[in-house]
Amino acid sequence: MEAEELIKKCSAISLEGEEEDKVSFVGKMMTKGAEIIAGCLVGKILTTREVNIEGLRSSLGENVFMFKFALEADKRRVLADRPWHLNKALIVLTEPEGIGNITKQAFTHISFWVQILNIPIMAMNTEAISRLGAIIGSVEEVETNEDGECIGEIARVRIRVDVTKPLKKIIFLESEREENVPMPVTYERLPNFCFCCGIIGHQFRECVKYKTQKQENFAFGPRMKAVKVSERLNHDKSKDRWNRSNNTRIEENGQRNQNQTQRQPSSTTETRSEAI
Ligand SMILES: [Zn+2]
Repeated sequence: MEAEELIKKCSAISLEGEEEDKVSFVGKMMTKGAEIIAGCLVGKILTTREVNIEGLRSSLGENVFMFKFALEADKRRVLADRPWHLNKALIVLTEPEGIGNITKQAFTHISFWVQILNIPIMAMNTEAISRLGAIIGSVEEVETNEDGECIGEIARVRIRVDVTKPLKKIIFLESEREENVPMPVTYERLPNFCFCCGIIGHQFRECVKYKTQKQENFAFGPRMKAVKVSERLNHDKSKDRWNRSNNTRIEENGQRNQNQTQRQPSSTTETRSEAI
């Protein structure tokens, strides 16, 4: 029985004097507890499949794990480098809230580097891109060049996304001057998600909305996995070289995401890295 269910059952019938059966969290107990909290992260692996990885021994419940760190800097780096995944399943990794009551942890939001495509020139500024990004989630950072500008083929925005809702795949810019401008949205290091409903954590065959429709008719798809900027640059460079030597146009490589390497948190808990 899950801890949450037991708490509900036990709390429903309270006996006389039970409310006095408590321990105050103070003194050395508090100090030791604070040390544990400071040196760890908790992560929920969003998958419908059983997580059975030998190295993940610090289980805190259903698909929830603790990752311990000897150095604060390592923990900060792992947090900054989110999202992480395990076998292509997203790990919603976060610092424990409060005193680390697992039943109260909200594993609902994670930050992605999001790429917004087809930005009109007039919208190539941090204010406009922040407004656009806010449709997708809470904007944490808008990437700019050394001159503080965001001029380019894509806008790259760090956004905290609610993973319990369908991923945004397209947003629109409304303008009095022209028709609405459609702007596709792609996500860097996007793990497996449902192409049927757009939610992370299950596959389309497990989806309540899946009604044996053809995959090409899904509203979502692997096209939402962004090419990382470094790969985009490398790709463009190789394209330039090819163009110079062959004077031939090269088509975009539809399989480009297969070479993206996804990482998992490095911690005292051993995990395996795998290409997505
Ligand atoms: Zn679904």
